[in-house]
Amino acid sequence: MNDPILIVGAGLSGLAAAQTLHTLGASVLVVEKSRGPGGRMSTRHETLNGKPVSFDHGAQFFRGHDAGFRQVMDAWERDRWIAPWRGNFVRIKGEILKPDEGRLRYAPGPGMNRICQEYADRLKDQLRYQTRITELREDKGRIVAAAEDGTIVGAFRAAICTAPGPQTAKLLEGFRPTLAMAAASTSYAPCLAAMVAFAERPTVEWCAASIQDGPLSFVAEDNARPGHQPALAPSRWILHASANWSAEHIEENPEVFAPMMLEAFGQLPGVQDLDPPVHLRGHRWRFALVEKTTTSAAQVEGTPPVAIAGDWCEGPRIEAAWCSGVRAASAIRKALT
Ligand SMILES: Cc1cc2nc3c(=O)[nH]c(=O)nc-3n(C[C@H](O)[C@H](O)[C@H](O)COP(=O)(O)OP(=O)(O)OC[C@H]3O[C@@H](n4cnc5c(N)ncnc54)[C@H](O)[C@@H]3O)c2cc1C
Repeated sequence: MNDPILIVGAGLSGLAAAQTLHTLGASVLVVEKSRGPGGRMSTRHETLNGKPVSFDHGAQFFRGHDAGFRQVMDAWERDRWIAPWRGNFVRIKGEILKPDEGRLRYAPGPGMNRICQEYADRLKDQLRYQTRITELREDKGRIVAAAEDGTIVGAFRAAICTAPGPQTAKLLEGFRPTLAMAAASTSYAPCLAAMVAFAERPTVEWCAASIQDGPLSFVAEDNARPGHQPALAPSRWILHASANWSAEHIEENPEVFAPMMLEAFGQLPGVQDLDPPVHLRGHRWRFALVEKTTTSAAQVEGTPPVAIAGDWCEGPRIEAAWCSGVRAASAIRKALT
C-alpha cells in the first residue's frame, strides 16, 4: 500500500500536484522526459564568450485571479521566488505604440523556472529526469509505467498525467479511455521563439511589447525581468512569433526562422538600428498555447485511479496549470480514500 503515486511531467501542473501530495504525506515519483523541471516555464542556459547566460524563452509572466492561486502567489512573493515586473510595457498595432499598463505582472526570478526548481529541490529523489513514459498498464492492482527504452519505471497506486493533451491521449488510450478522449479533444497553437543577445543594449524605447499584427506577437527584454541587472552585458531579448506565423514556419530550421524574427524586431516602432547580435538561437514550441481546453469534466478514472492535469484542462495560463495540478492531487487523494 506504500507504492508511490506517479506524476508524468515536471512542469508547473505536475510539480504543484506532487507538492500538494507530498505535503499531505504521500510518496510520489515525478517522471520528466527533459533534463530539468519547468516545462514551458523553462530557462535556457547557454555559454557566451565563456560566460553563462540565460534566456526565458517560454512563458513570460502571470497574474492571479483564483483565490487559492493568489494565496500561493503571496507566499512566493514573500519567499522572493517572484516579484512584480515593472517597466515600460507597450502595445503595438502597425505603427501605433501605446502604453500597456493593466494589472501588475509577476515573474519568477532570476529565471522563469524558479518556482518549478524550488518545488523540484524539495522533492529531491522523488523526481526522475530524462525518462519519457511511453506506456501505462495495470498489473495486480497497480499501475505499471514503462519508459521509451522499455525499462519499467515502477509500480504505482495511482497516476496523474500532465503531458500535453494529445500526448496524454496516446498514453491513456485503451487504458483510461474516458480521460484519453478528454485529452484528445484539446488543441494548441505553436509558438516559434528567438533568443537574441547584443553586446550592448540596443536603442529600444520599451522593455516589453505585445504586438497585434505582423510576424511577432511578443518581445521582452530578459535583462529587465525581476532579479536581473538591466545594465549587465550582454543585452538579452526574447522574441515570440504569432500563432499564424509560427504555424506557417514551424517546419523551418531555427537558423532560418530566427533571423526572420530578428528582422521583424528591428522594424517595430520604438526600435532603432539594431547592431548585429552576438547570439541568436531559435526554439520551436509545438504545443505552446492551449487553444481548446478539454470539453470533458472527467478528472479521474478507474481503479487504480488515474487523473489528468495541465493547462489544457483549465486554460492557456500558468495559473490554470497550477490550479489543475492541485485539483488533480485532491481528486486522487479522494479516490484513494
Ligand atoms: C512561448 C510561450 C509563452 C507563454 N507565455 C505565457 C505567459 O506569459 N503567461 C502565462 O500564464 N502562460 C504562458 N504560457 C503558457 C504556460 O507556459 C503554460 O500554461 C504552463 O507552463 C503549462 O504548464 P503545464 O505543467 O500544464 O505543462 P508543461 O509546462 O508543458 O509541462 C508538461 C511536462 O511534461 C513533460 N512530458 C511530456 N510528455 C512526457 C512523457 N511522456 N513522459 C515524461 N514527461 C513528459 C514535458 O517535458 C513537460 O516538462 C506560455 C507558453 C509558451 C510556450
